[in-house]
Amino acid sequence: MGPQPVRGKGGTGGEGPPARPVPDRPTVRRMDWIERVGNLRQWSRNGLRAPHKPLLLLYALGRFQREPDRALRYSEIEHDLKALLQDYGPPHRTSPSYPFHHLAGDGVWEVLTDRGTTSSGTGVRALRESGAQGRLVPELRSALSGDPALVGRLAQVLLEVHFPPSLHSDIASDVGLDLDVPDRAVRAAAAPGDRRRAADLRRRVLVAYEYRCAFCGFDGAIGRVPVGLEAAHVRWWAFQGADELSNALCLCSLHHKLLDKGVLGLDAGRRIIVSQEFVGRSTAARSHVLDLAGRALIGPQNGSAPVAPDNVNWHTAQVFRGAARVVGGI
Ligand SMILES: [Zn+2]
Repeated sequence: MGPQPVRGKGGTGGEGPPARPVPDRPTVRRMDWIERVGNLRQWSRNGLRAPHKPLLLLYALGRFQREPDRALRYSEIEHDLKALLQDYGPPHRTSPSYPFHHLAGDGVWEVLTDRGTTSSGTGVRALRESGAQGRLVPELRSALSGDPALVGRLAQVLLEVHFPPSLHSDIASDVGLDLDVPDRAVRAAAAPGDRRRAADLRRRVLVAYEYRCAFCGFDGAIGRVPVGLEAAHVRWWAFQGADELSNALCLCSLHHKLLDKGVLGLDAGRRIIVSQEFVGRSTAARSHVLDLAGRALIGPQNGSAPVAPDNVNWHTAQVFRGAARVVGGI
């Protein structure tokens, strides 16, 4: 656009105009990292959730923000990583050793043992006994040190590609990530289309369900404006879930969160199921969650598409936690 090929401030180029345009190294590099981190998704093809590597990388970014020079010893972080996989991974269990070893193949993470060798595999005992330590690769560490907003951008990419928005702040806080470092340029470029898409779906879903939570019937409003009601994807948007009524529910904020956490789901007859793993003893927990088991959905109104079985099946296999509570028994 401009007549000058020189870009950026405080560049390291020489004085005066260069003979040919100098490639904008920092920007190119930045996009490379963003792309590389975004491409971890290859691991999760065909709608199967495999957030193990992304969770480890988010954890590593969180630790980097606090202690940039510290390597992460497997035996020290095993417990944290296991908890993250349990809280945000798919229902079937995976050892934390798996991402710890395999992430090294993505060009962002390296593993070294006390003997100076690279990781020997996913064997838990070998990782512990060899003193295996993982850390972001040196090039990435220096890119992050020179560009504080990059941590937040990479974390955002990981969250957007692998998790629904309702879980982003929970995950960030569990891995100790501070996402408030501004990265306005990137955010502004990505936002308008997404915002329009989200607003359009929300409007259609709220109308289809007549401004009520499909699970509990909550219909709060301030004046005429609904409040605390959201359009929830059943099959997550990050996993090819469509922006369609057949993949959406109108839910209150609490039930949206519980759907995305796998506490609540639907059975083949579109009745509400509640995970056996959910525990709550208060009257509120009982009435807001446990009592929902076996209830039919409220809505959608006639003429609007109900949630499609394929999307329900995806949610049951990939998100819902463990077995459903038995209804009507004890
Ligand atoms: Zn509700």
